[in-house]
Amino acid sequence: MLPRWLASLLHRAARAEQPLGPEHATDIDRAMMAKAIDLARHAASMGEVPVGAVIYRPASGDIVAQAHNLRESTADPAGHAELIAIVNAAKAIDDWRLNDLALAVTLEPCAMCAGAVVNARLGRLVFGARDPKAGFCASLGRLTQDRRLNHRVRPIEGVLAAESSQLLRDFFRARRARSNNAT
Ligand SMILES: [Zn+2]
Repeated sequence: MLPRWLASLLHRAARAEQPLGPEHATDIDRAMMAKAIDLARHAASMGEVPVGAVIYRPASGDIVAQAHNLRESTADPAGHAELIAIVNAAKAIDDWRLNDLALAVTLEPCAMCAGAVVNARLGRLVFGARDPKAGFCASLGRLTQDRRLNHRVRPIEGVLAAESSQLLRDFFRARRARSNNAT
């Protein structure tokens, strides 16, 4: 049995590593997430996994880049919404450092995209639903909060998460139904 002071310290430390809850999102964050959901919906209409991402100035809500998944149409394993948005944002401001910018993405970023968030030094990260199979910001790991890396950002999660996960569920249900009909 741990002494109470140690148990309470460990509990606080574990909680500190969790992403922040949706109550930490601003009205601008929520508006950007709504935009990202629209992009995700568009992705679904093209047969892409419905994930959308917007990069914006967190104080003004000015949009710098936006994207949805394009992996199927481009046969590109790096065709994830938030990675495309990060690359396009850097091009738009002609700087790879995105410290002053925020990313709203409908699904928890994977290891590849969380790595890009760190390498771009993104200032703010907001995501919708968790991805228990591939998410690397909360579910399988917390790459953007790793103290060994030289840039860290604590995500805000759960913003409009119900809508994002509903889109994903509908998409995969429809795809399963199609493949069942085909056989
Ligand atoms: Zn990804």
